[in-house]
Amino acid sequence: MELNPFIRDIPDFPKPGILFKDITPLLMNATAFQHSIDLLSIQFAGQKIDAIAAAEARGFLFAAPLALKLHKPLVPLRKPGKLPYRTYSLKYDLEYGQAELHMHVDGVELGQRVLLVDDVLATGGTMAAGGQLIEQAGGTVAGCAFLVELAFLNGRAKLPNYDVFSLLTY
Ligand code: IMP
Repeated sequence: MELNPFIRDIPDFPKPGILFKDITPLLMNATAFQHSIDLLSIQFAGQKIDAIAAAEARGFLFAAPLALKLHKPLVPLRKPGKLPYRTYSLKYDLEYGQAELHMHVDGVELGQRVLLVDDVLATGGTMAAGGQLIEQAGGTVAGCAFLVELAFLNGRAKLPNYDVFSLLTY
């Protein structure tokens, strides 16, 4: 099944000049959504993965069903002020300004192999920060999985030490 027809181009969102890849048509088609989770699970089924981590908000949409399918723990990476327990945190640079991600200190145990999941790989900043948080906790990044990769933004360059896999590349 082709997933490409379920990704919609939105010009000039959220700012003029940006062509936004909208994944909501895929979410609204249960067959396509299920297929995307099946393909991601096939890709990582044979690998040693102890947990799945994803950054809010759209990363959760793919990480949660994948975690259930692979029967692994799900670790949320969140913006400041959202997680109630003690956290590791990391500030990282965006194109304009800074962002910060947090993870509960008990989210990942020493030596665990963690698969990072997100909907879209753009500049790679979010995923690189997620990887550093996993490593701060003593874990290892088992891989990075995306529904969509915007190859022209060269996000892979920010993830040189990770196994990066995407279902669709533009
Ligand atoms: P980054 O630049 O790779 O850090 O991407 C930042 C975040 O923005 C990621 O979590 C992506 O999900 C999201 N993002 C960036 N570009 C797009 C897009 O075209 N469509 C949907 N999400 C996007």
